[in-house]
Amino acid sequence: MAMQKSHPYVELFTSYPDRVVNVGKVIFGERARNKTESILRRKQIGNISQAACALLNSGGGVIKAEAENKDYSYEEHGIGQDIEKALTELIPSKTFQKYFDFEYMRGNNNVLIFVKSWCGDSSFSPRICSLGTGLCRRSLTHTKTVSPTEAAQFLTEKAVFARRKHDEKPGPRPKKALLSDVQQEDNIYVSAERFYRRDRLFVDEKLNFTESTHVEFKNFPTKNILKRIKEILANYISAFANTQGGFLFIGVDDKGTVVGCGKDIINIYELKGVIEDVKGKLPIAHFCSSLPGMEFECKTMEVYENQSLYGYVCAVRIQPVCCVVFSDTPDSWTVKGNEITRMTAQEWTALMMATDPEISDLCQAFSAELSVSCAPPLTKSVFSNSGLVCLQDLQKSLFPVNSNGITYKPDSLSKELFSEYPGLEDLMKAQMKELQCTRGLLIFEKSWAVAVGLPKSQCVVCDALLIAADKYPMLYTVTEEDPSGVGFEYSKRIAQTLKLNLVNDGGYAQKVCVIPRHLQLGTNIQQNRDSRVQVKYPFTYVLSSTDVSDLLQSLVIILLSFRSFLSDKLGCEFFNLLTLKQYEILTKNLHKFKKLFIYGLPGTGKTVVALSIIERIKNVFCCDSDEILYICENLPLKTIVENRNICQAVTRVAFLKGNYPSAKHVVIDEAQNFRSENGDWYDKAKRITQGNGPGEPGVLWIFLDYLQTSHPFLCGLPPPSEQYPQEWLTVGVRNATQIYSTMLHEMQNIVDSPQIDIPFERLKMLLNEAKCGHPLSGTCTVQTNWEKDEIVTYVAVTCSQYFQNGYSGKDIAILCNTAEEAKTYLRLLQHKMRRFRQDVRFTKADAVLGNGIVLDSIRRFSGLERNIVFGVNPVPNPTQMEISDSLKLCVVSRANLHLHLLYESNA
Ligand SMILES: [Zn+2]
Repeated sequence: MAMQKSHPYVELFTSYPDRVVNVGKVIFGERARNKTESILRRKQIGNISQAACALLNSGGGVIKAEAENKDYSYEEHGIGQDIEKALTELIPSKTFQKYFDFEYMRGNNNVLIFVKSWCGDSSFSPRICSLGTGLCRRSLTHTKTVSPTEAAQFLTEKAVFARRKHDEKPGPRPKKALLSDVQQEDNIYVSAERFYRRDRLFVDEKLNFTESTHVEFKNFPTKNILKRIKEILANYISAFANTQGGFLFIGVDDKGTVVGCGKDIINIYELKGVIEDVKGKLPIAHFCSSLPGMEFECKTMEVYENQSLYGYVCAVRIQPVCCVVFSDTPDSWTVKGNEITRMTAQEWTALMMATDPEISDLCQAFSAELSVSCAPPLTKSVFSNSGLVCLQDLQKSLFPVNSNGITYKPDSLSKELFSEYPGLEDLMKAQMKELQCTRGLLIFEKSWAVAVGLPKSQCVVCDALLIAADKYPMLYTVTEEDPSGVGFEYSKRIAQTLKLNLVNDGGYAQKVCVIPRHLQLGTNIQQNRDSRVQVKYPFTYVLSSTDVSDLLQSLVIILLSFRSFLSDKLGCEFFNLLTLKQYEILTKNLHKFKKLFIYGLPGTGKTVVALSIIERIKNVFCCDSDEILYICENLPLKTIVENRNICQAVTRVAFLKGNYPSAKHVVIDEAQNFRSENGDWYDKAKRITQGNGPGEPGVLWIFLDYLQTSHPFLCGLPPPSEQYPQEWLTVGVRNATQIYSTMLHEMQNIVDSPQIDIPFERLKMLLNEAKCGHPLSGTCTVQTNWEKDEIVTYVAVTCSQYFQNGYSGKDIAILCNTAEEAKTYLRLLQHKMRRFRQDVRFTKADAVLGNGIVLDSIRRFSGLERNIVFGVNPVPNPTQMEISDSLKLCVVSRANLHLHLLYESNA
């Protein structure tokens, strides 16, 4: 080995499809351990605990230790009680078998400890594993460390206080003097404060107050005084700062008598240095947004004996902190990439405090499918749209568990693969036979690597995942020929990622492994058996029949979840599930569907699909972000996509001007609103994707919605008869039912009496399939024949009502017909809101991710959405009357929950 790594470390070259953490040599067995020096024993236990903590917090894995005692026998000697005890103490319900399994590998004298992911089993247990919290608090006259199990409640209480504390003065909170001890505590605080102001004290002087929650006396009559102060100071500062603040007096004994630190044993300059040094190292974690630092001061008070200076009392005054101060970074670990890392105080606090987003008024719109309170540490909340199929039904429809036989899923893909690769079906059958697997699901993907976000290897024919009761989950990677011999390594990498995704994204909380197998087409069962890499897992990792459907549901989450657009709005990341149709489009074979037109009705999630296909293109063709171009008409939508950092995002106008030498694939959104007058964008996009060489052409997918055409000009698309192949999105997921019925009415109008050149026959067919998948009714108000002033008053009054009901500027958009109109209304509204004493900020559509109310033209808000939308006089100018229905549809479909259409009288 080139370099000796310090233990524990993540071992990279292992046949296990799991994270393997090496803890070095350990003495195993009760007798042998009892004979070992305690210092060495503690060191070994420390390494094992740290490795276990890191694995518990990051999805589970394997701890590998080499038995140091040569004559070790696992059956005879066991593991050692102190090791088992240390591991048991780490986990929430102290049930050892639920989390850990041991295997002894005689060949290399290794002991393997299999670690399942942490999962809180009640709302009281902490969300992650910690060896220590680094937090202290005062408990009457004592300073205590906060244990990992107490920490969750401690942090929650602090977070509640943090919100209130904002406008209070430092010191104890003013309480009503109902209890005499509270009264007394306050008196002590006041006396301590008075004492703190003095500069001159006397030896043997008796103080008129005692130790309390807010006061601690310390006395170190030794030469090591600075060292001792350094040892205790961080704990006291953390404790006082976390418990309403207080005073630490060094040089006063327990009984409250001044003894002083002799001037010959303490150097006050060094002391100040020590205090400043400690202060700089204390980590703070904030729940609040003001983020102030630690505040404390210290002073030295001179102590006299018979008129001459004897020494000093060192006083530290600690202000309460808004959130929490740690005496040291929490002793909690995780695995990032291939490193075991200690969490920062901020990361630790965020994980400890993670909760499901408060979706208040939206909670009826979504049902929680995966809640962070009883899931592995790294999972995020997942919601399904309650108007559509729930997770369980999605699983039953995609991956039904039959009682008999091996079911190949998806049907169409497995058939396609079997006909394309003769021999594949027999190869798989032989594997099932060898495994004696008679019932279960074999789930095919062109590449499971792509499905879990890894690049695809070109020699892979397909991957099949076996999920069956009484078997370990297995991943079969099938290649044609494999001259480089990367098959197993590749399969192992996918299996490991898949396992981590099932736990960390899919929320699967039981013991789980995915065993990789590499199969080569055209080889027989014996050849495959000979080339097999053996990977052994404990029997507890075999799936039971109840595990099977849970695991399949986690699989649905990792395949169908996408980051919700509401995440930005709520400031908390969570996920929604795709509809089956959206998923079907996304999983199309990109090698076959290089070009695709996706017609979507308003609110059917076109942009969601567009962004997800970009991720998929990256993995299928192993390309970089700058090889994919996303083109849309408006700047605001471009800004949102740009923020994702997954591709180059440009507007059509910029696209026509620019040069994109690195681009190979193009995804176009909202194409119906493009224009042909600045140049032939379609031709340019086509030429980019055709490339200029013998290589495979790139992907060109075009998302469009003719019904939302916002101008009467030519859009530059090929004629509808040439828009093939084609897919449709017809299930509305964005708009509440009342808003949806207004939309449906407009859509019907548009296709019944088409005013502009759109393929209305085909759109009629789309409309026949239109369906609202939104569960809430929402509201839709229309007012006609109003003066500008009436409209302005209505908007101002209604907004203030929404604010009272808990909505914020982020929820509202006010959309006018033109940018010019928007300017006029901005002036009028600002004036009116000021008279209403309303402090609101207006922004343009470009700042859609900001906090202000968006006030802009309908056109510029295209592709975006808000909970509440005011459509102000949505009537086109007289030369464009042919798009009046489309314009109305555009504004209506921007609203998720509440819509107000307000028309001026001269219209
Ligand atoms: Zn704070």
